[in-house]
Amino acid sequence: MISDFVVIGAGIAGASVAARLSESGQVVLLEREERPGYHTTGRSAAFFTANYGNQVIRDLTAASRHFFLNPPEGFAKHPLMSPRGILTIARADQQKEYYSNLAEARAATEEIIELTVDDAVQLFPTLRRDYVVFAHYEPGLYMDVDQIHGGYLQQMVLRGGKLICDADVRSLNFSDGVWKAVTPNGAYTAPILVNAAGAWADEIASLAGVKPVGLNPMRRTVIIFSGPVGVNLDDAPMVIDVDEQFYFKPEAGKILASPADETPSPPCDVQPEELDIAVTIERIQLATNMEIGQVEHKWAGLRSFVSDRTPVVGFDPDHEGFFWLAGQGGYGIMTSPAMADAAAALATRRTWPEDLIRNGVNADQLAPSRAALLNRNKKNV
Ligand SMILES: Cc1cc2nc3c(=O)[nH]c(=O)nc-3n(C[C@H](O)[C@H](O)[C@H](O)COP(=O)(O)OP(=O)(O)OC[C@H]3O[C@@H](n4cnc5c(N)ncnc54)[C@H](O)[C@@H]3O)c2cc1C
Repeated sequence: MISDFVVIGAGIAGASVAARLSESGQVVLLEREERPGYHTTGRSAAFFTANYGNQVIRDLTAASRHFFLNPPEGFAKHPLMSPRGILTIARADQQKEYYSNLAEARAATEEIIELTVDDAVQLFPTLRRDYVVFAHYEPGLYMDVDQIHGGYLQQMVLRGGKLICDADVRSLNFSDGVWKAVTPNGAYTAPILVNAAGAWADEIASLAGVKPVGLNPMRRTVIIFSGPVGVNLDDAPMVIDVDEQFYFKPEAGKILASPADETPSPPCDVQPEELDIAVTIERIQLATNMEIGQVEHKWAGLRSFVSDRTPVVGFDPDHEGFFWLAGQGGYGIMTSPAMADAAAALATRRTWPEDLIRNGVNADQLAPSRAALLNRNKKNV
């Protein structure tokens, strides 16, 4: 089948860019699994915060906020985000890190409020008073990831795009100005091939004979357990350690928690390790009075970074028509509107979007040819 764009990977990156590209031409979105969103996109913690990641991530996040709060008509049935506070806590020995985080948070948003220990415990009643010494609060947001991902896919289909599942791309060839992707479910050709394969993006590059960008997938673990009996945490904020050693948040009557681990892993259907689960429980029990009896649900996902922890968006400098959309790390959902805008503008060689200019994002910061990636294949750990 011949189209204008073949996109590999139907996670949030592939779905969002496919929706945007389908405004400009025929899009085919290829997904190896039997359903889209099975890998990292379906495994996130779903929070939106101005105070996360490096400056480029913060700018991309700021540029994405408007889309989530005002999605296009028909994009979703319910609001894409709901208000949920984010409480950053620190022990006495984390004072230096706390004040540096507070300064960064205040630079990202005017909405940061410093709290007393009493205020913090009132917001999250099981926090231990002998643990927390510093705390600040951001009126953050939770994202409805299923709706956001589904909205992008629906937009693409309504604009004539096609999602093909069970389509594991096994070979890639470029000839006469056209890329050909061969899958067990057919062969697909287009002059522009978008590599949005998440943790597998470097493997896709190798299949295509393109130099990898040095992507480093890192495992992150999540557990769900019952909240404390008799304490209503329905409106309680998410709590995050200032050094990101753990976080936890109320989730549909339970508690979702993570040790915020970053363990290098090959791209795979990653599963949680018992040791990481034990570490999660230990850290949460140190910081709170919550007794964690049974872990009711657990999973892990891969957050993939390049060495400067900034996403890679743009045409490969050495291979015509090969377009990178990779390295979304731990921010791929909350930055997806801005990332899709950037990718679509570059892939169609349109002018750089106003929203990105306003928020200080430029194409060079994301370019696959940027200095930080010149030393390709060197893994970041
Ligand atoms: C525990 C955890 C918590 C997180 N919390 C947040 C958060 O709170 N907020 C936030 O914004 N982000 C968060 N993230 C990060 C976010 O989930 C990711 O940045 C994002 O999902 C990456 O999307 P993706 O589309 O690049 O990758 P994926 O969702 O992994 O999609 C890539 C797709 O490519 C497909 N693919 C690969 N190879 C091939 C092939 N050869 N042929 C066909 N298809 C192929 C895969 O099957 C996969 O479906 C979190 C991640 C984790 C793991």
